[in-house]
Amino acid sequence: MPPSRVRRWPVSAPVRVRSGRGRHSHRPLWTGQGGCRIIVAAAAGADRDRKRRRGLPMDIDSYFGDIRNSIRSIAIGMKITLKYCFQKTVTVQYPEQRLSLAPRYRGIHEFEADLCIACDQCAKACPVDCIYIDKTAPRKIDKATGKATGGELLRFAIDYSKCLFCALCTEPCPTECIHMGKLHDLSSYSRADTVVEFAELHKKNQRTPIPLWMQRNADSIPWVRDELERVKAGRLATTAADIPKVK
Ligand code: SF4
Ligand code: SF4
Repeated sequence: MPPSRVRRWPVSAPVRVRSGRGRHSHRPLWTGQGGCRIIVAAAAGADRDRKRRRGLPMDIDSYFGDIRNSIRSIAIGMKITLKYCFQKTVTVQYPEQRLSLAPRYRGIHEFEADLCIACDQCAKACPVDCIYIDKTAPRKIDKATGKATGGELLRFAIDYSKCLFCALCTEPCPTECIHMGKLHDLSSYSRADTVVEFAELHKKNQRTPIPLWMQRNADSIPWVRDELERVKAGRLATTAADIPKVK
């Protein structure tokens, strides 16, 4: 654009401008770019502030301009606040309320130790090496009973401070005895408590650990009581029908 066609914006308030030789002059500032208008407006605001601090009289336009800007900014803030007052609530008061889970939700594992042959396939598939297995001798499935026999499963543990809930451990299992469950919160008081010993849980007929919050809320919240009974009875929650619904 030729210089003659550049639109220039006058600024009504004189602005103090520092010259190259360190002098100051009061003269109207003319700008040719939109970005400069912002800088000049800020300079005009700073000039008003300086006047206020020195007790100099403000012109009437500045006085009412400040009031108008204050009311406008309060109105914008209140509009945003009121908009959220009438919107549908998206949070729930857990555990009294709960959201439904996706059909293929991957929560804390459920493990059937009586079907595990301790073949280590799940541990080898785990990308973070957080499955620990120990046995006294090889195990295999007894066709008559459908249960694992042979050596004793001394340890089957998962470290949930490392687990990614990726479900890669469930894919290669030849007996399909390890599942992704529907419980998702495993709060604990120490790092050691994040390692779940599933072989020990099996001795209590549990497939998955009982979270602290579940024990505390079972008396007062019906759905928590139902879940606690399910876990204590060793029932799996791996089908779509087991997925909790919104209440
Ligand atoms: S879910 Fe993934 S990270 Fe967790 S134990 Fe299984 S394979 Fe390992
Ligand atoms: S892959 Fe299955 S059978 Fe083999 S050790 Fe893991 S859980 Fe047990």
